[in-house]
Amino acid sequence: RAYNFNAGPAALPLEVLERAQAEFVDYQGTGMSIMEMSHRGAVYEGVHNEASSRLLNLLGNPEGYKVLFLQGGASTQFAMAPMNFLTEGKTAGYVKSGSWASKAIKEAKLIGNTFIAASSEENKYMSMPDVSNLVLPENTAYLHLTSNETIEGTQFHEFPDTGNIPLIADMSSDILCRPFDLTKFGLVYAGAQKNLGPSGVTVVLAREELLQNSPSHIPTVLRYDTHAENNSLYNTPPSFAIYMVNQVLKWIEEQGSLDGIEKKNREKANLLYNAIDESSGFFRGCVDATSRSTMNVTFRLGSEELEKQFIKESEKEGFVGLKGHRSVGGLRASIYNAVPYESIKALVDFMSQFQKSHG
Ligand code: PLP
Repeated sequence: RAYNFNAGPAALPLEVLERAQAEFVDYQGTGMSIMEMSHRGAVYEGVHNEASSRLLNLLGNPEGYKVLFLQGGASTQFAMAPMNFLTEGKTAGYVKSGSWASKAIKEAKLIGNTFIAASSEENKYMSMPDVSNLVLPENTAYLHLTSNETIEGTQFHEFPDTGNIPLIADMSSDILCRPFDLTKFGLVYAGAQKNLGPSGVTVVLAREELLQNSPSHIPTVLRYDTHAENNSLYNTPPSFAIYMVNQVLKWIEEQGSLDGIEKKNREKANLLYNAIDESSGFFRGCVDATSRSTMNVTFRLGSEELEKQFIKESEKEGFVGLKGHRSVGGLRASIYNAVPYESIKALVDFMSQFQKSHG
């Protein structure tokens, strides 16, 4: 297997792929693949409901929360959240932390009034904004933040308390990388293709009361209440992707649930950040140490030529996906839940070799 550091779609646990392979053609003696089954049948619905309850279970089964499985990626949630919540006379607060937060803001502005509650733009998004003392007007419909900026490589390590104002989080690139208190949030969404499974399904976790009474003018398929009332079976769901999410959730349980996953992620991130910090400046971490992401590690070399050489040589050694996002350049290793410690160990060894031959 390749050493896969892709930002997304990203590595999946080998065990999950092998289990899916074993039942790919004949799902548990039914004579059909799960993807060939009706989404209205008992077998598929069993998988669908299991995925939903596993997810809530991993988060401690907080009362009054529901899971939705939607399509259109996190990008559709950038629009759907304001369409459903940013009604006349209200304004929506946004934490402007980087590339993905900016995309969410752009969509919300198309729908209604917004304001920037906190921003790290002045620091070129090399840190997460301070969200400890936010002032939110009374007519704030919600506060939106991006828990992990996939492109810049920054991550929130604490979340603000927004009281009665719903906190909405785009957790696409770090959901289930650690335990978190879902009750602090009104709604959380994530494209599955980093920590949850393959692309094609978007997971939404929300307080039930926010999934009722969407404004009447919103098209049926873009209303949260439609999907909540129909157990995410209003229209044909991405059934195979949801089946895979269920398998990934089962795998997370086997890793010691979110506490176990967090411990492994810490060890992985420490290994890589230490290698960067101990390279006497040959490798340089891009972002402020306090905002470093445990999922997307961004770093640079002394020149773009050297970075190109690094990519070229790394690819020859079986490393995939180490090039930084085209908008920021540099290097990035995405070390999501499914990336094994051994891959990071191999990367750190390669970095050390590269420094010896080019330093
Ligand atoms: N938000 C974040 C933090 C992301 O990392 C991404 C994708 O990389 C997106 C949103 C967009 O997700 P999608 O491609 O599922 O629309």
